[in-house]
Amino acid sequence: MGRAERGRTESLNRGRPTVSVTCIADGWAHRVPDIELTSEMSQSDGYYQAVCGHRVAAASMVEPDGRPCPLCTEMCRTTRS
Ligand SMILES: [Zn+2]
Repeated sequence: MGRAERGRTESLNRGRPTVSVTCIADGWAHRVPDIELTSEMSQSDGYYQAVCGHRVAAASMVEPDGRPCPLCTEMCRTTRS
């Protein structure tokens, strides 16, 4: 996990439902907390904060899903309680 520059998402990463969002920048399908997807702040700049810390530039909904991000997959697995 990279440096936590945005502390506001720290508390969102545990036990939250997530949605798979493919990033057009790296082609991975990241897990984004669904609260991020419904946040007006996130929608305004087009980026979402994935659970791995990656800033996801959301691909078009018609794009096929990319390969699952291993970091996101790992974090979702290990934080499931
Ligand atoms: Zn990821």
